[in-house]
This record gives sequence, structure tokens and C-alpha cells, in this order.
Amino acid sequence: MLEQLNEEITNKFNDRELVLGDGKVDSIVMMVGEAPGAKEIEQKKPFVGSAGKYLDEFLSTIELERDKLYITNTVKFRPTKEGKRPGTKTNRAPSKKEIEEFKIYLFEEVDIIKPKVIVTLGNVPLRTILDNESASIGNMHGKPISVIIKGAKYIVFPLYHPAAVIYNRELKEVYLDDLKQLKAFLKNI
Ligand code: URA
Repeated sequence: MLEQLNEEITNKFNDRELVLGDGKVDSIVMMVGEAPGAKEIEQKKPFVGSAGKYLDEFLSTIELERDKLYITNTVKFRPTKEGKRPGTKTNRAPSKKEIEEFKIYLFEEVDIIKPKVIVTLGNVPLRTILDNESASIGNMHGKPISVIIKGAKYIVFPLYHPAAVIYNRELKEVYLDDLKQLKAFLKNI
């Protein structure tokens, strides 16, 4: 089923380099990021660059190993814009249109993995999974919320994007606290 979906995505976006979901297909936890960066495109795996290092570090604080998870992104190619130096590229946020294009596939992915908990990393996956443009990680982080996707009920656990901690060091304590809540929550399901 997942192979079929991945083939469909690959065919639809055959002009782009994609990073598809990765990890344990029968995991109870599905993590959803925003979009891959350069390192992820290079290695064809989500969260292997600097944001991934932070994510690994955070996960280790609650003894949640990455090989126990399924990790994917909302948008599966690297959105780029021209860098400061000519001929270079830098990351940019995915556009509404790009997010919309990938949303149906993300919902299909949820329906195949059927996790107990969907951990969203940052605003883009949070708004996409909840189908709510005005959802905000600043208000919703660390608190589980339920959602219905393709007729089935899931619990969403919103976390900040790990890269947010790189730009705002004060978020680290908040992040660690949210992770503790996630750990306690996972113990009870
Ligand atoms: N940031 C994301 O949101 N996803 C990745 O895979 C890497 C960085």
C-alpha cells in the first residue's frame, strides 16, 4: 500500500527530486515535518541535516529512538529560492499551493500508517493535518488534540519544529518540557 502511494507521488511529481516517508510502517508514532532541505535530498531521507540532528538529540531525551518512528514531510520536495550568491539556492517556506498539492498524499499516508499519534513539527504540518489555517504552534504546542482524517480518529501532538530552537534558544526549555509531556502521553496509550 505504501509502495503504491510512493509510486503515485513519484509519478505525479516526476520533474522534482523527492524525499518520501521513512521508518517503521507499523509505528504508533508518525512524525510530520515541513519539507526536506539539501541534506535530505542528498540522502533521500527526512531529517538527516541540522534540524535532524536537533530532532535526534530531543528524541534521545525521552528515549524515543528514531527507528521506532515513521517520519515524513508535508511537502516532499525541497522548496528553494535563489541564494545571495548567484547560482546558489536556499530553502524557502513551501507555498500554499505546494502544501495543497501534497496534502491529499499526506492524508493517504496517515491512512496507510494509521498511527496512534501524529506528532507535527512546526506550523506547516500542524495546519495541514488539522486542515486549519489559523492553528498556531505558539498556542497549541505540547497539548494533544484530536482530528479525523479519512474517517478515522487520530491524536495530534503538536511540537515546535526542531529548527526553531536553532533560531530561538529560549525555546529549548519549552521543547524539552513538551517532550516530557509527549513521553507521559505515549506511556498511556
Ligand atoms: N526540516 C523538515 O521539516 N524536514 C526535513 O526533512 C528536514 C528539515
